[in-house]
Amino acid sequence: MIKINNLTKHYQAAQGKVEAINGLNLEVNDGEIFGMIGPSGAGKSTLIRMLNLLEKPTSGSITINGTDLTALSSQNLRAARQKIGMIFQHFNLLSSRTVLENVAFPLEIAGVRKKKRLKKAADLIELVGLADRIDHYPSQLSGGQKQRVGIARALANEPDLLLSDEATSSLDPESTRAILELLARIREKMNLTIILITHEMGVIKDICDRVAVLEAGKIIETGSVIELFSRP
Ligand code: ADP
Ligand code: ADP
Repeated sequence: MIKINNLTKHYQAAQGKVEAINGLNLEVNDGEIFGMIGPSGAGKSTLIRMLNLLEKPTSGSITINGTDLTALSSQNLRAARQKIGMIFQHFNLLSSRTVLENVAFPLEIAGVRKKKRLKKAADLIELVGLADRIDHYPSQLSGGQKQRVGIARALANEPDLLLSDEATSSLDPESTRAILELLARIREKMNLTIILITHEMGVIKDICDRVAVLEAGKIIETGSVIELFSRP
């Protein structure tokens, strides 16, 4: 489903050229939960920013379901972006909006009519187990609850792909486990692909089907969780 071919991303920085991604190849199957680990500076965030179409590669291609993202017009780019959901370490909720309004927000941007978007947002809030918090503001929620809102919001446009950038890094172990269970349930129910970057080995072991290890802008290992963690 997702094919990354000979991808590079170079930045021009004050100290010279930075090769953040440097000839990266990867295939992620439909419905997979795919983990990405690697040291700080390896290029994980850069890769995520290209996958969610916030940044353009220097060269190479990213193909999702046969569509080359690097070749999209700006009009098609906007539509493609809506089919990619994203959750964040710090949740990135709008603090002046309620849970319902936060989840409905991407639908508002997509031009969905009010009645329809509020109904859809309410259904998603129920799905993530927050029906009793629908009119609360983010400041009234725990970290785990905020991330549930983040997940519901990311699902609003029915994405094919959900990207997770350290989504459990600021949560305690119990909330982390609950969020991972929710992600696994959503994968089954919504039939989507999840790519998550994390530095938490526990997260990888708990829910990832396969893992890639990123180092200096390249993938140095790919395998099933069992393969990768049973090597000497
Ligand atoms: P990771 O997420 O794995 O920590 P990043 O993708 O953030 O890695 O960074 C990879 C490399 O690219 C690092 O050397 C970083 O300093 C550099 N980099 C990232 N973004 C920029 C940018 N906007 N301008 C210049 N260099 C950048
Ligand atoms: P800014 O442009 O200053 O980031 P916005 O009001 O556009 O502020 O967005 C605030 C937050 O809401 C962002 O950090 C982002 O995570 C989230 N957000 C914005 N647009 C969308 C969207 N279409 N889908 C999901 N989340 C979004």
